[in-house]
Amino acid sequence: PSVRAEAPVLAPRRPTRKIRVGGLEVGGDAPVTVQSMTTTKTHDIGATLQQIAELTAAGCDIVRVACPTDKDAAALPVIARQSRIPVIADIHFNPKYVFAAIEAGCGAVRVNPGNIRKFDDRVAEICKAASDHGVSLRIGVNGGSLDPRLLKKYGKATPEALVESATWEAGLFEENDFHDFKISVKHHDVVTMVQAYRLLSQAGRWPLHLGVTEAGPAFQGTIKSCAAFGTLLAEGIGDTIRVSLSAPPVEEVKVGTKLLEFMGLRQRQLEIVSCPSCGRAQVDVWSLAEQVEEGLKGVTAPLRVAVMGCVVNGPGEAREADLGCASGNGKGQIFVRGKVVETVREEQVVETLLRYAQDMAEDMTRE
Ligand code: SF4
Repeated sequence: PSVRAEAPVLAPRRPTRKIRVGGLEVGGDAPVTVQSMTTTKTHDIGATLQQIAELTAAGCDIVRVACPTDKDAAALPVIARQSRIPVIADIHFNPKYVFAAIEAGCGAVRVNPGNIRKFDDRVAEICKAASDHGVSLRIGVNGGSLDPRLLKKYGKATPEALVESATWEAGLFEENDFHDFKISVKHHDVVTMVQAYRLLSQAGRWPLHLGVTEAGPAFQGTIKSCAAFGTLLAEGIGDTIRVSLSAPPVEEVKVGTKLLEFMGLRQRQLEIVSCPSCGRAQVDVWSLAEQVEEGLKGVTAPLRVAVMGCVVNGPGEAREADLGCASGNGKGQIFVRGKVVETVREEQVVETLLRYAQDMAEDMTRE
């Protein structure tokens, strides 16, 4: 047996307390969820609901909206009612919006204690309002807005400083017998962030929201998020994730859902297995893979489709794919579960493969 077969699979999920975010559960044995945040002005209700619908269609489970002004707070009841997924209001500076969001029917409210002056004085009131309305909270600690007291103590936003901030705030809620909250300790540096979550997961059973803050443009942010979340999820840490990208939020959801699929934490959907090409390739694999990906857009069945550059190694390399193609000498072999079922001219490869894929996807959906 290979080393891989003998190696342990992902660590079991760390037991965390289960909370509700609207109609969804987060923590405990609930599936890891994907979150994103709208970029529209929240008071532009039409645009915000439109973006939420796009995120929902892309696989987003929970959406967060910013609430910096009275106008935004006034829009929350309609948005919370009309969104098909739970809405979390993101409150930074003003505690009055925490109460507005709770009363608006939001599934949860995110608070950043480091940013809310006199926050601690109002914790009892917030706990009561949240309990009365069945609303959960997220304590969102952020490397960039750490409590000045802790910055002074640690010199910078170290993992220990982030965790001390989080556990201090968690303690304030728990003193009021309020336990329906999750915690995030975000940092832009992957290693600091990973260590902070490890320490936090050892300190208590709170459900954890994973995030690398200010992760950057799509390419860099995707890599940072996948490195950090992949490490933590493999250790069983993390109950909900948000990939932050300087890019349209649908891209965040695509990365987050695929990451969970590839880690076996979410039902797998379409997967294109394509070879990188090499000196043996007798066809433009990159363009072929792009055409296949484009042609199968919208297919949600858990189909694994292989696109290989040569007939010598192609089918063998893609043995675990449901179907695929391998090209050479102006021809293409179409294979289904490792067996060649048809050989066609090279220019017919894509359409033939897509026909098989669509049929198999329909069968899978019917099953
Ligand atoms: Fe090279 Fe063929 Fe493997 Fe593609 S399938 S990487 S062309 S050997």
